[in-house]
Amino acid sequence: MEKEYCQKCKTKTNVEVLYKEMERAIGEGYKSIGNKSVEKFFCVKIVEWSIYKCKGCEERTFKIKEYIPRGHEKTREEMLETPMTMEFYHPNISKKIPEWIFELDYEMELIKIISETYRAFNENLYILSSIGIRTIIDSYFQLHKIEEGSFKKNLEKLYSNRIISEVEKKIIKEVIDVGSAAAHRGFEPTKEVIEEMFSVLERLLSTDLLKEKSERIKKVVPKRK
Ligand SMILES: [Zn+2]
Repeated sequence: MEKEYCQKCKTKTNVEVLYKEMERAIGEGYKSIGNKSVEKFFCVKIVEWSIYKCKGCEERTFKIKEYIPRGHEKTREEMLETPMTMEFYHPNISKKIPEWIFELDYEMELIKIISETYRAFNENLYILSSIGIRTIIDSYFQLHKIEEGSFKKNLEKLYSNRIISEVEKKIIKEVIDVGSAAAHRGFEPTKEVIEEMFSVLERLLSTDLLKEKSERIKKVVPKRK
């Protein structure tokens, strides 16, 4: 029985292999010289592509595994026995875009930024994620024609329009600060901070969903005579 890592179950599970292919390619390796420096060398590597399905939750995972040989193994079997391996999973679903975001009446451009921001998070690119979140909030202001001249003033406007609460205003202010610090001052936010930022962002965008839903309901409910 084959076992692989399931990204939904977050552990190794029994899987059904749907597709597997191996290819030889040219890879780069690093070997150490002395204590500190390393030297790059080129070598033949083996790349294994596979798609497998978790037998528990049925999630399908696409995995690319690279074997880079160490030493002077001569055969493929020898290489596979003593490899330096790297595994990449696609798509990484540690954070999925909430389905309802696609229901929002947003321009494709904004949807693209949102989708790239989630992707950056899933690739562990936390600086880019925080800059993305800041950009999305900026677009949110533009979308609602909130142009008071600064992030801080725009937030005040959201608050006075009763779109956000006082606590949310404070949190979004922090979110914006993290994004600016990452963009301009080389600040590296942690995964936990970004997760917090995503929940604030989702909460903000969901106010648009509620608005759109209530407008749709208004249209279908017959007016009182
Ligand atoms: Zn699973």
